Amino acid sequence: SGFCKSTSIFYSKRKPFPLPQNHSVDVTTFISSRAHSGKIAFVDASTGRHLTFPELWRAVDSVASCLSDMGIRKGHVIMLLSPNSIFFPVVCLAVMSLGAIITTTNPLNTTREIAKQIADSKPILAFTTRQLVPKLNGSSLPIVVMDDENHKDAKFVTSLGEMMRKEPSRSQVRDRVSQDDTATLLYSSGTTGASKGVVSSHKNLIAMVQTVLNRFGLEDGEQRFICTVPMFHIYGLAAFATGLLASGSTIVVLSKFEIHEMLSAIEKYRATYLPLVPPILIALVNNADQINAKYDLSSLHSVLSGGAPLSKEVIEGFLDKYPTVKILQGYGLTESAGVGASTDSLEESRKYGTAGLLSPRMEAKIVDPDSGEGLPVNRTGELWLRGPTVMKGYFSNAEATSSTIDSEGWLRTGDLCYIDEDGFIFVVDRLKELIKYKGYQVPPAELEALLLSHPDISDAAVVPFPDKDVGQYPYAYVVRKAGSNLSETVVMDFVARQVAPYKRIRRVKFIASIPKNPSGKILRKDLIKLATSKL
Ligand code: AMP
Repeated sequence: SGFCKSTSIFYSKRKPFPLPQNHSVDVTTFISSRAHSGKIAFVDASTGRHLTFPELWRAVDSVASCLSDMGIRKGHVIMLLSPNSIFFPVVCLAVMSLGAIITTTNPLNTTREIAKQIADSKPILAFTTRQLVPKLNGSSLPIVVMDDENHKDAKFVTSLGEMMRKEPSRSQVRDRVSQDDTATLLYSSGTTGASKGVVSSHKNLIAMVQTVLNRFGLEDGEQRFICTVPMFHIYGLAAFATGLLASGSTIVVLSKFEIHEMLSAIEKYRATYLPLVPPILIALVNNADQINAKYDLSSLHSVLSGGAPLSKEVIEGFLDKYPTVKILQGYGLTESAGVGASTDSLEESRKYGTAGLLSPRMEAKIVDPDSGEGLPVNRTGELWLRGPTVMKGYFSNAEATSSTIDSEGWLRTGDLCYIDEDGFIFVVDRLKELIKYKGYQVPPAELEALLLSHPDISDAAVVPFPDKDVGQYPYAYVVRKAGSNLSETVVMDFVARQVAPYKRIRRVKFIASIPKNPSGKILRKDLIKLATSKL
């Protein structure tokens, strides 16, 4: 298997964007050449601290120059462990401008989870906040502290504030960056197994920026966006640290999601555009009456939902409660730099349940998972994508790469979809193991490995369980060793101590054996059926 036997390719109906002719342009230069008005680029919603575009580019230049003086070169990996902040993009853009590689990680991750990413990605420097420093304990990484303006502390190499104040030196050493060089290493579990480093090139990111620009148009330099989705994830990185920045828009940054802070920020900054994940949209619908009574949201004209499926009920509920706000959808994966499909108008979104039309320059196939046959319109199969945003592969993992991207460049999304006669994609189900809790990735294989490390557990499988507020949560089937009287709570606590809160197992069921196929693969669909049979 692995090869699609037919040639039924679906092409994008969106207008293609031009790809840069100059092979040696890096993504930072690509963005900065487009966005340099005197307007505010980023403003912190809680402190009001801001960076105008000229201040931003000057900061990026200074930080890049300091990094270069420190010996950072093309191909070096730098870890960024930080909540959303107006400085998050400064670090990303500076690192990428040198041809060095940025690897981000969720600040909710535990020390153990972060240590795993460090061992895999091998960064030589980390940027983090004072509060998050303990999460890097145990690693000997030199640290640049991001939120200490003036303090000198022997623990840190320097502070970001110090770097930003430096005059960029003219004599710095800079490698020539080509579009095929790696820019980011974000972590995703893909269709199976544990988290892996997604290798995205400058070309991938430039095409992603072009996709965002194509969608929003240059008149959107007039928009004010609220950034509450995490910048460490491709959704936040694509939208806020790169894509929308290139449109010259103002971005209001919330360091973490809190619904009232978000609503106050919309009111205060007269925000026009709000990108979200479905659980937040659901909260907006459920509390609409209090929200409309308390906040002036009249500036808001669009909400974008992405990262997980959105039901017809939620869309209808939202349009009913917020009649002046358009609701738009976006579908994508870390492996495709967040690009895949989108609805660009309310009319398109009214094809309820659709993830939208294929993004510009993206091609698709719908492949029968059993026969490998390419399927025609309205038939359900695995969605395969091909286009300029598709990753180079997984970091030092040739096996995972070759089972995810074929020799013709097709990426298996692990999503079960169909495409209708008008070209709209509908995501029907997830073929891959991945669980998405509030849009965050929870790889079952990681939780299963943890469960198996418990002395009283002989086998385990973790599957998604549907939940209307969070999307899905991890549900564990556990086989106890003979004679063990392990309880559900002990199992849940054992896992909770070692994983980020969003990965916690919320329900445990003991079972005599885990159903598997003859080659030992867990029959996940059977377990999902069993788990949901009483719904
Ligand atoms: P991530 O790499 O964390 O962005 O996860 C990508 C996966 O999230 C996709 O393969 C889908 O399973 C799911 N996903 C993202 N956007 C949507 C959407 N608009 N509708 C349905 N599922 C989505």
